[in-house]
Amino acid sequence: MNRTIYGIVIAFLAAHSSAAAKVNVITTTEDLASITMSIAGDRADVASIAKGYQDPHFVDAKPSYLLKLRKADLLIAVGLELEAGWLPALVQQCRNSKLLGSGYLDASQGCEILDRPTGQVTRAEGDVHPLGNPHYWLDPGNGKVIATNIARKLSEIQPVDSAFFQSRLAAFVGEIDRRSMGWQKEMEPFSGAQVVTYHNSWPNFLRSFKLQVVGYVEPKPGIPPSPAHTLELIQKIRATGVKVILVEPYFDLQTPNAVARETGARVVVMPPSVGGNEQIKDYLGLFDHLLGLLKKSFAETGYRPPQKG
Ligand SMILES: [Zn+2]
Repeated sequence: MNRTIYGIVIAFLAAHSSAAAKVNVITTTEDLASITMSIAGDRADVASIAKGYQDPHFVDAKPSYLLKLRKADLLIAVGLELEAGWLPALVQQCRNSKLLGSGYLDASQGCEILDRPTGQVTRAEGDVHPLGNPHYWLDPGNGKVIATNIARKLSEIQPVDSAFFQSRLAAFVGEIDRRSMGWQKEMEPFSGAQVVTYHNSWPNFLRSFKLQVVGYVEPKPGIPPSPAHTLELIQKIRATGVKVILVEPYFDLQTPNAVARETGARVVVMPPSVGGNEQIKDYLGLFDHLLGLLKKSFAETGYRPPQKG
């Protein structure tokens, strides 16, 4: 074969062969990275900017992520302004025009979003949830929607692997449905149990497993505790008999510990993300871990189900 033609054939094969092509994906959080890996398998390289033990509202991204973003085919974000404090600057600096158009996916599309503002959107007093609660991945039902969004976007970017992504999506959704039945059964004895949480990270999670929140250590999402609010919270815990205060791993324990001392409640550090501790390795494992922690905490603090009838 003529060498020039051979070169053209090789270049054509390289451009059109699925065997070698991998979609280069950057996600903002480890939860999105885990779901993406479940859908993409070996057809994508996936890396997350934020680590699961970091507060996703306030991430100090390493400069190495600029290089990764520059080479990315796809950026997947939680959206709803979760990353508003740090992602726009990174995207601007990396100068990858793909990420401003078809190479960007807001994973929240079609998900059930709680706490949506009904009136005018404001960031009054520094509220970091102006468009609704951005911690929606903590509902396995939303996990299925996120996975569907990701499969659709990957198929758009790499149509040749579309059937592969769709079959993995079906398997992932089936696995969530199967595991959800077990999770619901496990949590049945605790239906209606009340907790306090540090940040408003858990509305989707608590609703999924029929638990209730009676208050927050933060006066508003993103605002540090104040003495007046803490006093009010102590009174609320005394009045309701709440035994468990859930604290995301990136918050200072001083106020929660003080509240616990005053009320006899227990502080439980609960990571809301994959990678929040070394035991939480993937999206499904996150729920196993969280529900295990909760059941143990309820048992150890002598939780009794509310009287029926
Ligand atoms: Zn938040």
